[in-house]
Amino acid sequence: MIEQPYVYRHSELVEPDWRRLPGWAAVTAADWESAQWQRAHCVKNIRQLRAVLGDGVDEAFYSDLERDQAERATMSMLLPPQMLNTIVPRKAPSDPGFTEALYADPVRRYMLPVFSDRRTDWPSHPYSSRDSLHEAEMWAVEGLTHRYPTKVLAEVLPTCPQYCGHCTRMDLVGNPTPVVEKLKFALARDERLGAMITYLRANPGVRDVVVSGGDVANLPWPRLEAFVSDLLTIESVRDIRLATKALMGLPQYWLTDEVRAGMERLAAKALERDVSIAIHTHVNAAQSVTPLVAKAAKAMLATGIRDVRNQGVLLRGVNNSTEALLDLCFALLDDAKIMPYYFYMCDMIPNAEHWRLGLSEAQYLQHQIMGYLPGFATPRMLCDVPYVGKRWVHQASRYDTDHGISYWTKNYRTAVDADDQLALAREFEYYDPIYLLPESGQEWWRTKSAEMAKADAAPAVLVRSA
Ligand code: SF4
Repeated sequence: MIEQPYVYRHSELVEPDWRRLPGWAAVTAADWESAQWQRAHCVKNIRQLRAVLGDGVDEAFYSDLERDQAERATMSMLLPPQMLNTIVPRKAPSDPGFTEALYADPVRRYMLPVFSDRRTDWPSHPYSSRDSLHEAEMWAVEGLTHRYPTKVLAEVLPTCPQYCGHCTRMDLVGNPTPVVEKLKFALARDERLGAMITYLRANPGVRDVVVSGGDVANLPWPRLEAFVSDLLTIESVRDIRLATKALMGLPQYWLTDEVRAGMERLAAKALERDVSIAIHTHVNAAQSVTPLVAKAAKAMLATGIRDVRNQGVLLRGVNNSTEALLDLCFALLDDAKIMPYYFYMCDMIPNAEHWRLGLSEAQYLQHQIMGYLPGFATPRMLCDVPYVGKRWVHQASRYDTDHGISYWTKNYRTAVDADDQLALAREFEYYDPIYLLPESGQEWWRTKSAEMAKADAAPAVLVRSA
């Protein structure tokens, strides 16, 4: 037997027993599997979290959480029971060491961040910003980001059934928090969705539409079905991707009769028109892949859609190891039939430095996972470079590791650089977390950020709008 850095073992998926949590000790399987019950029992605040976890958690944890919500959180708390149940899946709150396990848990780290998780030296990068990918700047019509020549992102709604602490769309998605007001759509929903369809009809160069938000699971099914049906009438549209983390956070929704029957209708229309519909989900840790998640993914595949794919986010303390990433990819692929597709580097939003990896770390992880998964299921690690777009982590044209600045080029124009003659010759920058840099690089940033503050040149790091 040759010794390997990673040892593959097939692991059975497990639905953690929710009855270990005092607040759900009497919940029946029928309730648990009901999407309505799950939505009605989402945990939205510390009082509700206490009611579920009971007295087993140290008070210090709740104070830590409360301080984070008041001073740092860019997303409000929203956890469906399904998702909360995958945190510390093998311990009850009354077991010794539960609070320590809660602090260390990978799902807790990004779904329920606490103040002590965050960096105090550089909580935010000086160039972090609330719409770090400038998506709203590239709206062709409200909510429709036209950032690549042949594809668009349709933000059909600004809410999700769950809110992730590191959400890249924290500018738009979710409820306001004490530190972030949210951007509001000006148009009413149907007017906005109608304008998107009109734009796509008038722009036959677009063949690929990512239907996102938010999370499409929060759009009433008939409205989502009508929107996708409209897309299917546009001659140029060949690929439709539905973005939903809820396939993992609220699989019960994707298992409802209404959604399964509706997806079957859409899949049949798509087949007739030679269009591919896929679901793109967002799973960051192997423990989130439970039998119910696998059942929902397979139910969607059974409707006749093309694929279910995963776009995870590389997050420190969650999945920044070869083992965590490969365990997750095999859990997705083996029993849930979800295709590992991408891992994004966490975007440069405020208060995210503790989650973000440096480019060299992402390059290392890409190297380490090669060769274990089938080639078609080996995810690419991507840096989403502002004003450029998604780039494979090994595509940087230069990398200054002392200052933590990588340089990237682009090979297409967007509306914002349509008149920029140098856009395709220019280098665009991306920044590593400063605390990872050698002392000389950190000193350079201290000086630079003081100058930026003086000149008021930095994008607002604290994000409450006037
Ligand atoms: S599900 Fe996606 S859009 Fe919603 S909060 Fe999480 S990362 Fe943001």
